[in-house]
Amino acid sequence: MEDKHWVEEIFEECGATLYGHFELTSGRHAEKYLDKAIVLAHTTECCDICWQIAQEVGMHYIDVEAVVGPAYGGIILSHNVARALEDFCGEVLALFTEKDKQGKQVLKRGYKKLLAGKKVLIVDDILTTGGSIKQVIKEVEDAGGQVMAVAVICNREGVTSKDIGGYPLFSLWNTNIESWESDNCPLCKENIPLEDPKSR
Ligand SMILES: [Zn+2]
Repeated sequence: MEDKHWVEEIFEECGATLYGHFELTSGRHAEKYLDKAIVLAHTTECCDICWQIAQEVGMHYIDVEAVVGPAYGGIILSHNVARALEDFCGEVLALFTEKDKQGKQVLKRGYKKLLAGKKVLIVDDILTTGGSIKQVIKEVEDAGGQVMAVAVICNREGVTSKDIGGYPLFSLWNTNIESWESDNCPLCKENIPLEDPKSR
């Protein structure tokens, strides 16, 4: 049997790898769900992950001045990664984007002013389509920030640097989780009850 990735082990040990019949944010169905909220709730494991992101990114970009992630997971990640990056980079601010009424990730709270002219690392937990990451990148650039790289805990659908506009992409754990369109889902055909993993 293949050795498990250490991040995969953390998800399993925290009880964050769920098996069942899930509706993903994209509307697709899957039998496996990585519940990042459960991992982020475990502070030691969360800090280990963020420290590792900071190590990998800090080696290449020693001059990052701010970290930005999409709420809610991104708040916790940006804070912990920024703190760990300070070992390499001097002061690093920890900021986040949040959804506006249309569901788009935007900068609020005076963060645009804080980001102007700064070198920025974007972080996220699980990368699926890259859609929200692209919104965060645009917001940071519109605020006058310079996006240096994107770093995620897990890339679960093989998103590439090209898919997110050519920015360097760091991923601690690359995996592939099968999912299906709802009208083509084998679990639906077996009448297995569908769960929204975020409403548990
Ligand atoms: Zn289904």
